[in-house]
Amino acid sequence: AQAIDWSAVRTDFPLLRREVHGKPLIYLDSANTGQKPVAVIDAVDDFFRNHNANVSRAVHALGTEATEAYEAARGKLARFLNVRGDELVLCSGTTFALNLVAYSWALPRLKAGDAIVLTRMEHHANIVPWQLVAERTGATIEVANITDDGALDLEHLYSLLTPEVKLLGVTHVSNVLGTVNPVREVCREARKRGIVTVIDGSQAAPHRPLDVAAIGCDFYAITGHKMAGPTGTGVLWARREHLADMPPFLGGGEMIKEVRFDGTVYADAPHKFEAGTPNIAGFVGLGAAVDYLTGIGMATIDAREQALLAHATQALSEVPGLRIFGTAREKAAVISFLVEGAHAHDLATLLDLEGVAIRSGHHCAHPLMQHFGVPATCRASLAFYNTFEEIDAFVAALLKVRKLLL
Ligand code: PMP
Repeated sequence: AQAIDWSAVRTDFPLLRREVHGKPLIYLDSANTGQKPVAVIDAVDDFFRNHNANVSRAVHALGTEATEAYEAARGKLARFLNVRGDELVLCSGTTFALNLVAYSWALPRLKAGDAIVLTRMEHHANIVPWQLVAERTGATIEVANITDDGALDLEHLYSLLTPEVKLLGVTHVSNVLGTVNPVREVCREARKRGIVTVIDGSQAAPHRPLDVAAIGCDFYAITGHKMAGPTGTGVLWARREHLADMPPFLGGGEMIKEVRFDGTVYADAPHKFEAGTPNIAGFVGLGAAVDYLTGIGMATIDAREQALLAHATQALSEVPGLRIFGTAREKAAVISFLVEGAHAHDLATLLDLEGVAIRSGHHCAHPLMQHFGVPATCRASLAFYNTFEEIDAFVAALLKVRKLLL
């Protein structure tokens, strides 16, 4: 593989040239949302300037161009995930994708006496939809523990997989701890027991090569805005047999073959689940994002981010009183931390004045915060466009603001 000029890659991201509060921006919040390369910005711009029309409706040239661009994005996403395009439902994000599984797959099937298993490191998007299902069906929710270093407690997880369990929801990568979960092994164990698996891939897709077919899950959800694409784009992959069996989630145009007041015939999957005008420009942008990421190479991105993570972990370990949450062996470039004697929000606020953007709060993972007995953490999340110099500047700023607070 050719060596990548990372400083050239960085110039692909116009926003990273910004200053905030008179300081050069150091953006360490990519797990929240990623910055966009000019290729993505241009693709969206070009769509609106030159090709804008609705999909699947008009026979005119623009209608065809828009439909082809939208379907081309589906094809790119299929190759990115190593699955078939007709198994991908294009939607607004992981939140929509997981709710689609909850409402169309789980709600009609689950009943009192059934159980759903989740893990303590799930994002609220992979908790609350299941609580809504449990409330309506009488199913119960069991929660798998995590170990002290923030890995899944697999022994505990497997002990929960009793015959009552119908569905298992697991995040591929924790948005708070960075932990990469052994989803392949977990799905194999679930499948042996006839349990359907739902994997939240939001934090995996931006960072590592994905082979959803090899994972062996039933459902896999990703969100476009964390992987260099526009907000309001996401994908649900589902096994074809599930898509065929599931009733539509939303009804409307685009998802039907024929509408009659005495009975409507739905379109085949995946269009059955794509009611109404989709985020066409958004998916054109996400298609460009996939091209951009695969142009660099996901394995190359992974290696770069692992080097940045190792550097940041080492540098932060020299900050007095700093505790890192999540030290599992296999981690994505996410570091949650607290500094003894300083509130997370105070640290983030003062770091912002230094130009450093990190997130503070519960990171949509209340149960995980409860597990650690803290109301909030600071989280620095890295992407391949960050630099070693930025990490050093961040740690220097952290040392400075720590002194102000203590
Ligand atoms: N799951 C995880 C692990 C996430 O990090 C996020 C985004 N914070 C989501 C789900 C929700 O994604 P979205 O808001 O884009 O639907």
